[in-house]
Amino acid sequence: MTEASVSALLAHTPLEARLLELIAERGPISIGDFMADALGHPQHGYYTTREPFGAEGDFTTAPEISQIFGELIGAWLIDAWEAIGAPSIVQLVELGPGRGTLMSDILRVARIRPPFRAAIRVTLVETSGRLRLRQRKTLDPAGVPVQWVDRLDDVPAAPTLLIANEFFDCLPIRQFVRTAETGPQPWRERLVGRTGEGAEARLIFTLSNTTYAPRSGIPSAGQPEDIFEECEAGASLMGSLAARFADHKGRALIIDYGHGRSGFGDTFQAVRRHASVHPLTRPGEVDVTAHVDFGALARIGRAAGARVDGPVRQGDFLTRLGLRLRLARLVEAADADARVALVSAADRLTAADGMGSLFKVMALSSAGLTEPPGFSG
Ligand code: SAH
Repeated sequence: MTEASVSALLAHTPLEARLLELIAERGPISIGDFMADALGHPQHGYYTTREPFGAEGDFTTAPEISQIFGELIGAWLIDAWEAIGAPSIVQLVELGPGRGTLMSDILRVARIRPPFRAAIRVTLVETSGRLRLRQRKTLDPAGVPVQWVDRLDDVPAAPTLLIANEFFDCLPIRQFVRTAETGPQPWRERLVGRTGEGAEARLIFTLSNTTYAPRSGIPSAGQPEDIFEECEAGASLMGSLAARFADHKGRALIIDYGHGRSGFGDTFQAVRRHASVHPLTRPGEVDVTAHVDFGALARIGRAAGARVDGPVRQGDFLTRLGLRLRLARLVEAADADARVALVSAADRLTAADGMGSLFKVMALSSAGLTEPPGFSG
């Protein structure tokens, strides 16, 4: 490494410099505010500036691993369209479509049911202008009109099918630490503060001076030092989705790494080039995420009167949808080299010691709909 590249590495990222300044002026910020800027800052955010996906990037998502993932979800969506009464117009919404690979695989499968393909209006919820261009390029050949919006609330009111893979994990969380203090509110918020001066300055974790309780759903048992995470943006998205499904029939599939039952633990993390790094490292240059609390999302969906299925493990879900059968078909048609790659990609999606169990799948449906495929049996 040359001296110049060492000093470039040691220098603050542009976003880090701004945050250090902001914290010096106003005091520590919440982890949520840090995450929102680290991922979505209009000039310096990770998704605004970087190409995160694939072997060359920082992480690889399920649709980028195997076409089977999107194909099975495409078939699931055809079933869902029929379950909501095969409406002649249906909003097909994807939250955070990345490179557009999943939607492209879904649209290919949609051809097998022409009335479904004719009914769908594709709407992509994406804040990154750079990724919108990427998605347009991927989806142009499908020949289906696509529109982009910034938020779910901008999607027209209509029967809706929705898919979100690795989206909820990007939504800002706040963390609360249980202290040894007694009293009704032994909680302090874990914040991002700073230490050091000038070129030596660094972002660090710190605790709020005042006690502050998380708003909802804290498990009652807890020990000092326990961390409780709250994702307000995820909760409000779930509430809007359930409200939408009360007005118009709909069904959604949410896939992410996370846990089925709310609990304690610090899941705020970062990855860079497929390796985990400290979450306050080089903001804007690394991907920061948190595990999804499916237990909390399920409670919100049910409280709003919607039907909730799962969460189940991704491996079980894909296997029940017929992954092995689809794999066998693809293998039959492939040459020897491609066969090995097809099998190892499918194994990666379902591995019990990897994605197959870390990732969970949950469905949200309008009240009165029957159980969607993939959740039992
Ligand atoms: N679903 C894709 C990509 C997941 S990465 C896949 O499976 O490959 C997360 C995606 O969500 C990116 O497209 C990112 O730009 C987008 N995103 C992150 N936060 C967002 C927000 N608050 N609103 C809209 N899109 C967001």
